Amino acid sequence: MPKFRAPRGTTDLLPEEQPYWDFVSGQVERLCRAYGYGRIEPPVFEDAALFERSVGAETDIVQKEMYTFQDKGGELLALRPEGTASVCRAYLEHGMHNLPQPVRLYYLLPMFRYERPQAGRYRQFHQFGFEAIGEGDAALDAEVIDLSWQLYQAFGLRDLTLVLNSIGTPESRSRYHQALREYYRPHLDQVCADCRARFERAPLRLLDCKQDAALAEAAPRSLDPLDDDSARHFQQLRAYLDALGVPYKLDHRLVRGLDYYTRTVYEIQPAQEGSQSAIGAGGRYDGLIQELGGPPTPGVGFAGGVERIILNLKRQGRQVGPGAAPSAFVASLGEEAKTAAVRIAGELRRAGITALMGLGGRSLKAQLRQAGALGAPYAVIIGGDELAAGVATVRDLARGEQESVPLVGLREWLQARVVRPPS
Ligand code: AMP
Repeated sequence: MPKFRAPRGTTDLLPEEQPYWDFVSGQVERLCRAYGYGRIEPPVFEDAALFERSVGAETDIVQKEMYTFQDKGGELLALRPEGTASVCRAYLEHGMHNLPQPVRLYYLLPMFRYERPQAGRYRQFHQFGFEAIGEGDAALDAEVIDLSWQLYQAFGLRDLTLVLNSIGTPESRSRYHQALREYYRPHLDQVCADCRARFERAPLRLLDCKQDAALAEAAPRSLDPLDDDSARHFQQLRAYLDALGVPYKLDHRLVRGLDYYTRTVYEIQPAQEGSQSAIGAGGRYDGLIQELGGPPTPGVGFAGGVERIILNLKRQGRQVGPGAAPSAFVASLGEEAKTAAVRIAGELRRAGITALMGLGGRSLKAQLRQAGALGAPYAVIIGGDELAAGVATVRDLARGEQESVPLVGLREWLQARVVRPPS
């Protein structure tokens, strides 16, 4: 038994996983740039109070899941549980409200939440996200939702649903909270103990209670008491989404667990049901910057979970790009040939061909077996005869055929067969 293991809820991202990560981050970067978003990378830890102020002191994230610690200087810090708070803090700190508005920013960062680990739920996980800050126009909500939707199309994920709702302004929300309390008060024995405890402070959370779905289904709709401005904003948003051809489903029960949302909220859900189902979520947060000490500044954003996207890509059997298998394996016989093999493998790598070579004085048979196990399509065999003739014996490992290729033309020979054009 090894003495140490990765901490519970964390994983090592091994080389065979990297093609998925390269693929997801590549699509995020490509599309975010096309929509005019610039990359931001805030620190991994922040003042713990930043998240209490933004995510909300009553939320599960802050109350139960945050990695909070005191550093040696006595500061109370927290590992970042989500990205929006840090991005808004940075927006204010760097005077971005003086730039042309809205400011468009995107990120791809590790996040930390002390949750119960299970498939698709980790304690260190990764989110990409984007935030458009400084504009309240519903066309900006539509832009952010469109960017989210187009990204998931680019990932090639099938059977996704975009679920949309508006939860209004803080004022219409507090009226709605009141309506919910009145509705739930006579039924408190039908919800779970957690929900009973947060009934007064956070009645919206009761809509997510799994104990009695019919009770939540019949609850008052968040849309009904919307104030006029929020109702108009939602109407406009829907018209813009129709113009963009983004399909969505309305769900008045979608409220999101974070405190900072106002008006628009949305989630992207895969077909497979379950508590881990959301693979991305976002919305508008018009009061957040002010809550952090800035001027009244509207904003809207989205965050997607990379691990859950990859999980869904695998479930749907989607192959992404070439793996880490070498394109060529250089096998050699004898010390003189080995020196030549070192040189040839080096030349191939410099030409962009992934090449490995036999090490440790193994027999030719053992080297060829290793080449096959690594998934190399070709073995380049160098022995005394080959060296004398200035050739390599190149073996097609899948077909078992081999041919003699002059060393001077080896690179071009392999390039014509194994180097893929950049995707
Ligand atoms: P949230 O910030 O809670 O809205 O989460 C946004 C997205 O991040 C979710 O839709 C998930 O895809 C992902 N996510 C949240 N928590 C976790 C976790 N503990 N492990 C893996 N992914 C997560």
